Amino acid sequence: MITNLITNITVKDTCEGFVYNELEGKGLFGLSGKLTIQPEYQRNYIYASDGGKKEIAVIESVLKGYPIGLIYLNKVSIDKLEVLDGQQRITSLGRFVTDKFAIKDENGMEQYFSGMAKDKQNKILKTPLLIYECEGAESEIKEWFKTINIAGVPLVPQELLNAIYSGPFVTLGKEEFSNSQNANIQKWSVYIKGSANRQAFFERALDWVSKGNIDDYMSRHRKDTNIKELKTYFSSVIDWVSSIFTDVESEMCGLEWGRLYEEYHKKSYDPAKVSKVVQKLYGDPYVKNRKGIFEYILGGSIDTKLLDVRVFDEATKRSVYASQTKIAKAKDKSNCSHCAMGHDANKSKIWSFNEMDADHVSAWSKGGATDPNNCEMLCKTHNRAKGNR
Ligand SMILES: [Zn+2]
Repeated sequence: MITNLITNITVKDTCEGFVYNELEGKGLFGLSGKLTIQPEYQRNYIYASDGGKKEIAVIESVLKGYPIGLIYLNKVSIDKLEVLDGQQRITSLGRFVTDKFAIKDENGMEQYFSGMAKDKQNKILKTPLLIYECEGAESEIKEWFKTINIAGVPLVPQELLNAIYSGPFVTLGKEEFSNSQNANIQKWSVYIKGSANRQAFFERALDWVSKGNIDDYMSRHRKDTNIKELKTYFSSVIDWVSSIFTDVESEMCGLEWGRLYEEYHKKSYDPAKVSKVVQKLYGDPYVKNRKGIFEYILGGSIDTKLLDVRVFDEATKRSVYASQTKIAKAKDKSNCSHCAMGHDANKSKIWSFNEMDADHVSAWSKGGATDPNNCEMLCKTHNRAKGNR
């Protein structure tokens, strides 16, 4: 399938020759007849239902200069296109410019397109739409269309966001973060995966400063002529990590440093001590998830779940289960020591092997080894209640 990003088609172009079928509730054609808005596999127009809130929202977004998202068109032949995704939005635009519904103005008065001030009309008409034109076999397109519909709004890569919000802010941001000649890139690469020219660092910087709302942040700062806040926040995160964790480990790359910074930057750490703990955990054969080491330490070395500590092997569990169960049966008590101490019906219950899990008698985090002498089988409920200490 070939895809092409098109950014020069405006609302005006799209609504040229717009036909709306009132009877069937369908927007039919646009782009001077070249575009079929509702191919048979598309659902009917639903933005007008629910009091038309959604179609009004589309127009208000355009008036405010907010993006209304990507539109996917399928190129059927040289001058024939079909809407794959975006039917509702295009129909809202078409219906509005043909006076099929009104929005409310600043004073709460109903306003139809034809009654609007010229500059507002132009603002709508001249807004470019962000269009992905796809070309491929029908089966391929339909398969893909299903994917868009199931997954909802497809994730917009940073390159596309840069196109949507192009302006001084993006230009400055790319100069700083997407320039492979920037001497800092080597340092950043310890913590951030990806490459400068695929926008990995720009994306991460935006993700951190916006707490995950890149789209919104870019839209608000689109016209900014400086990237001070972005740069400052980014360096704060990088400086913070690199001052606490003085060792460079490959597992540091790609962690959620922005979130960790927000969560822990007000706590103080002794880098020398931190380094010792890092080394110790790296040398511990029971630690299965080394990526979790950093958050584990930041959180005060409590949450061992982050480390995914290696559990007892099958043979050990089986043999501990067998001896535990034998003793329990002889005493007419449950083979889960916690159940046996209780007063309910489970106090003499013999659990099957599959109903139990292995537990460290002396907690791993307190130095308890993962060997048979430190293994006890508990029923799943009690094992979970005890937690992964
Ligand atoms: Zn139990």
